[in-house]
Amino acid sequence: MKNFTYGRASSVEEVIEQANRDRNAMYIAGGTNLVDRMKAFLDEPSQLLDISRLEMQSIERTQDGGLRIDALVTNTDLANNANVRRDYPLLSRAILAGASQQIRNMATVGGNLMQRTRCAYYYDTAFACNKRQPGTGCPAINGINRIHAILGASDRCVAVNPSDMSVALAALDATVEVQGEQGQRDIPFVDFHRLPGDTPERDTNLEPGELITAVVLPPMAFAQSGVYLKLRDRASYAFALVSVAAAVELSGDQISTARIALGGVAHKPWRASEAEAFLQGQTPNQSTFEQAADIALQEAQPLAYNAFKVDLSRRAIRRALAVSSRGGGIA
Ligand code: SF4
Repeated sequence: MKNFTYGRASSVEEVIEQANRDRNAMYIAGGTNLVDRMKAFLDEPSQLLDISRLEMQSIERTQDGGLRIDALVTNTDLANNANVRRDYPLLSRAILAGASQQIRNMATVGGNLMQRTRCAYYYDTAFACNKRQPGTGCPAINGINRIHAILGASDRCVAVNPSDMSVALAALDATVEVQGEQGQRDIPFVDFHRLPGDTPERDTNLEPGELITAVVLPPMAFAQSGVYLKLRDRASYAFALVSVAAAVELSGDQISTARIALGGVAHKPWRASEAEAFLQGQTPNQSTFEQAADIALQEAQPLAYNAFKVDLSRRAIRRALAVSSRGGGIA
């Protein structure tokens, strides 16, 4: 690990100013991913700006009945918040499906959004990696790519986003509040993370120096029927091979609205918008859910070792939609 300086921020404005004076500075809160990356020589900041003591630990009702979640709320506090458990149970379940209790106690909402891929080639500096060092190549494309992307990848990078929480937030139409030199702006959650394209080194659409201050959930009554289904190699402390956040709203015997987001399959949480559109007005039955799952995966392009993810995703979508259409619960 290279030497760096450390300082505690006393206000959002002050820390943003510090970050803009030194483009090699990095924010740190829980540090559950960043410290690992520093130890592996993946990130070598000149200074760490500790934001963990800023007053950003609240979860509050918005005027329209949604929730505003400060960026420094821990994953544990968010998962156990009474309003989240009642109104957005898929978010609570997604968080509890991730990491370990100890990590969730430290990890923050903002940090969860900023965690980087767990591609083994990215973490091993003996290998080239376009994300770590642009232009050097991607050994995963023709390597051991069992955990890698089947949707939205490029010839520069086939990594997947590892976050469970972000899959739920994508399905729930969340918005990310960020603050930078130019003031505050809101980013729709589906536009926060990026596909790799020609710039796999960029995971998000944050501008240099911008700080995540909150995540806002809109009111969504049918989110109470929401489901988070995570499929992985072992039952705990493992990243998703495939995950699905889904919620279905029924009107009589028809589906009026649906939300589907996939994890473990792309460089960002993957919102299945075409499948959602198809579901509107359909009768909630096995055939409908099979067609929706086929639509969601129609553009999948598996690699040598991860073709199993295509069928796994289809089955996970069918199951999540079926459980949500029956009122939700554990899928
Ligand atoms: Fe690097 Fe992305 Fe290739 Fe992994 S998939 S080696 S992160 S460029």
